[in-house]
Amino acid sequence: MTELWTVEVDSLVCVGSGLCAGSAPECFTLDTSGRARPPKAPVEAADEVLEAAENCPAAAITLRKTTGGEEIFAP
Ligand code: SF4
Repeated sequence: MTELWTVEVDSLVCVGSGLCAGSAPECFTLDTSGRARPPKAPVEAADEVLEAAENCPAAAITLRKTTGGEEIFAP
């Protein structure tokens, strides 16, 4: 069974670089102010989503396992 992750973006620290939306466009979108929005629903675990979190210049992205809430990546 595919693991699902819950994606959070701290909009107070996001600087709107757009890197996450560029590397994982199926997961991250940018709102009208240019800040990232996470998906409303959990996403399938994927390298590009993890890389987006790791490479966020503002350390704004947190990933958790949807079942159990274990952190996959936290800034
Ligand atoms: S990579 Fe980080 S700072 Fe850049 S838009 Fe995404 S969440 Fe915001």
